Amino acid sequence: MDELSSRYNPKETEDKWYKFWEDNNLFAAKPNPAKIPFCIVIPPPNVTGILHMGHALNNTIQDILIRYHRMKNEESLWMPGIDHAGIATQNVVEKAIAKEGLKRQDLGREKFIARVWQWKEQYGSTIIHQLKKLGASCDWQRTRFTMDEEYSQAVIEVFIRLYEKGLIYQGNYIINWCPRCQTALSDEEAVHHELQGNLYYLKYPFRDSPDEYVVVATTRPETMLGDTAVAVNPKDKRYKKFIGKTLILPLVNREIKIIADSMVDMQFGTGAVKVTPAHDPNDYLLGKKHHLEFVNIMYPDGRLNENAGSYRDKDRFQAREVILEDLKEKGLLEKVEPHLLSAGHCYRCHTLIEPYLSKQWFVRMKPLAKPAMEVVKNGKIKFYPKRWTKVYLNWMENIQDWCISRQIWWGHRLPVYYCRGCLKESTVHSPQSIDKIKTVDRRPSTMDQKGIIVSRIKPGKCPKCSSTDIYQDEDVLDTWFSSWLWPFATFYWPFLSPQSIVHSQQSVDSGQWTVAKSDLDYFYPTSVLVTAPEIIFFWVARMIMAGLEFMQDIPFRDVYIHGTVRDIEGKKMSKSLGNIIDPLDIINEYGADALRFSLISITAQGQDVFLSKERFQQGRNFANKIWNAARFVTMNLEPVSTKKDLCEFFMVQESIKHFPIPLRKSLKVIAEGDFLENKDLDIINRWILSRFYSSLKEVNKNLDNYKFNEAANTLYNFFWHEFCDWYLEIIKPEIKHPANQLVMFEVLEKFLRILHPFMPFITEEIWQRIQGTSITLAPWPHIQEQMIDKKIEKQAESIFGIITQIRNLRSSLEIKPEQKVKVSLYPHSKTKQNLINENSRLIINLTKLEELKLLTSNQRPKATISAIVEDIDIYLHFSGLFDISAEQAKIKEKLSELAKVSQAKETRLNNPEFLKKAPAEIVAKEKESIAELKNTIKRLERMHHELLH
Ligand SMILES: [Zn+2]
Ligand SMILES: [Zn+2]
Repeated sequence: MDELSSRYNPKETEDKWYKFWEDNNLFAAKPNPAKIPFCIVIPPPNVTGILHMGHALNNTIQDILIRYHRMKNEESLWMPGIDHAGIATQNVVEKAIAKEGLKRQDLGREKFIARVWQWKEQYGSTIIHQLKKLGASCDWQRTRFTMDEEYSQAVIEVFIRLYEKGLIYQGNYIINWCPRCQTALSDEEAVHHELQGNLYYLKYPFRDSPDEYVVVATTRPETMLGDTAVAVNPKDKRYKKFIGKTLILPLVNREIKIIADSMVDMQFGTGAVKVTPAHDPNDYLLGKKHHLEFVNIMYPDGRLNENAGSYRDKDRFQAREVILEDLKEKGLLEKVEPHLLSAGHCYRCHTLIEPYLSKQWFVRMKPLAKPAMEVVKNGKIKFYPKRWTKVYLNWMENIQDWCISRQIWWGHRLPVYYCRGCLKESTVHSPQSIDKIKTVDRRPSTMDQKGIIVSRIKPGKCPKCSSTDIYQDEDVLDTWFSSWLWPFATFYWPFLSPQSIVHSQQSVDSGQWTVAKSDLDYFYPTSVLVTAPEIIFFWVARMIMAGLEFMQDIPFRDVYIHGTVRDIEGKKMSKSLGNIIDPLDIINEYGADALRFSLISITAQGQDVFLSKERFQQGRNFANKIWNAARFVTMNLEPVSTKKDLCEFFMVQESIKHFPIPLRKSLKVIAEGDFLENKDLDIINRWILSRFYSSLKEVNKNLDNYKFNEAANTLYNFFWHEFCDWYLEIIKPEIKHPANQLVMFEVLEKFLRILHPFMPFITEEIWQRIQGTSITLAPWPHIQEQMIDKKIEKQAESIFGIITQIRNLRSSLEIKPEQKVKVSLYPHSKTKQNLINENSRLIINLTKLEELKLLTSNQRPKATISAIVEDIDIYLHFSGLFDISAEQAKIKEKLSELAKVSQAKETRLNNPEFLKKAPAEIVAKEKESIAELKNTIKRLERMHHELLH
């Protein structure tokens, strides 16, 4: 075994081991009939993605689960991949070509798409490299891209199946339109923010009495150019007499009617509202119902069009100003009031969304949602934390049809063709060179609506009129229309690839598995999906619908939703706030293990994470602690270096004097996972073994319930406070004792294994040195129930309590470490008396005692100061140690100092301003620190008193 260097260096270690894992193909998974499958599909990062803290958290959680199940001997597959991210990627490439002074239209569709692929080749695997830095143990050979040939075929297949089922339709509807990206967006892609706006009160004169008006209130006065009615509630007494009357729409001088509809809110504005059917979703419904005219006043880029008369070509925001000016001049602007409104913004470019009337493609969601609600209601799919179940069901209950067409170029083009021969009226679609679509399935094309052919391949001629004048729809599909197939399309559904079947040609003797299983059969449904809350509707819900529709089975059993990573003040991390912590900087400075451990240890299930850079010191310090402890243990293993040698060592070293015969007899190092019998071990070895297995039990339970922080903290406390602070400290003087040798080695070795999913690099580094193999495939330790002894744990705690109290007394009196002292104990029970008797040497050694006396009465001996632990009184004899009056003066001084500090803290805590601003975590910490101070003060006061008497 090589000696461990004196300092742990993550930089040298991490890249080295990642390369080793990859070179040895240790993350590969394939169907194995002898094993249970465990599978996670990665939420595919965008091809434009750059690793941020949200990814770091999301992928650390997945990696912990995958490594844990891999060690539990389950066939564990983490399926990686990348999303083509339609709008986002198109934006990036558009920006890149803008530097050359080019617009995508200058290049044309084909050349532009070639540029996107070129960009993808160059930069598209950035995030994969970054995920590797983090330690992600994905089966990289399987990496999928949502624009891959086979994946694209799955997308087309799904479109066609849904169309044939009548679940996809084309129609004119008000959709969310981004004037900058110039595409439709789904409801989920329109992010709503509150805005401070105004409510404008406009006067519309009556045609027959131009001096009288109806006043309407609106937040968007520029849309008045598209008004085709004014609506009032039929119950509104103020307006009853005006229903059916005609108004003159100012500026455009169009005649519009006053209509009545119960949809109108009498409380809003004046109770009379303008109706703009082409520019507002509610007005759209009114327009349909009352057969109003639809006047579109806007170009797709947000400028006003020819229907806006003299305002044509003005931008929508500029038009508002001019229109308000003109109305004011005509005396038609009654008043303006400030008004808070909620408006949708493009989730990609943050431009204010325009409700826009246009011809788009939609998926009918209600029929898909029904079974997807059922599987959550009946518990086939479980959400962690549970509260998301309600959020999910509520959204599904109110689901709207999904607008899936996008007016961009980068993405899966709709498998929709138009026959010019059949199309009587002109359409918005123009002829275009047909993309070559390779396809396996050649079922007949479908043609229902006039001139529309939906087909897997470009039809040679129209099935109806035999015309060959056919062209493809220009639009591409919403990116999520490919991501929702992720759990099965990544396995080459519906056309299983030959290689996915070849490597699963296995059978077992049981005969159950004589037929080769495909990867899809074996790994689907996957085990768990780990994701962020913001994509529950975008992605999680839709995957459930797609899984049930196309695989007739759920896509995953568990959904774990983690929180959002925020800064320490609770703000979202963003470029504009300048509060981003870059995970790659942290990896560089502290190491990936430190990043992972720190992040996980503060991530309570489903709650947001409040992060500061200092947080990562905890992980780094822990890595150093592990390193130093491992170094200490291995340096003191003598003369053996591996477990196997150690066993041999026990067999040949029988002559060791202080090695008791019964222990020798019971030393049985059985196969993997078994310790020696514990009845002959001393209390400390039995205690650490019991604590180890208790901790292991906790870790298992927490990992199985997605309580990662609790698992991490259990590991941390066990190793730092129990193994290092107590165990190694206690055995140090007798470290060469064979029982100590074996136990310290076994505990370290097994601890490394259960720590591995959290800190994969450092555990590999140490493991390779002590075992000479990779820890990634080492078995997860079994819980040895017989080793868990709560009574021993309790007894050890009592002894540690005594030791701690004596140490406290020593330090309160500032007794020098080398100074030996006398201590008397009075246990109130016989059991404690025995316990102390049996472990007096331990207490003496660890507290530097000259003498430890057991008292027979509970009278405090003269010249002692006291402490209590459980039912044991502790007395430290101080006579001759120091000048009593000087000591008293010192304590008095300390007391007044502490009183001041405590007072100041309390004042702060009682300040309502502080309470309002401070995060709950800080307040709790303050309270704790005050309680601690008060305890110290009490102790010192007692000591002060005792010094006198
Ligand atoms: Zn946009
Ligand atoms: Zn035709």
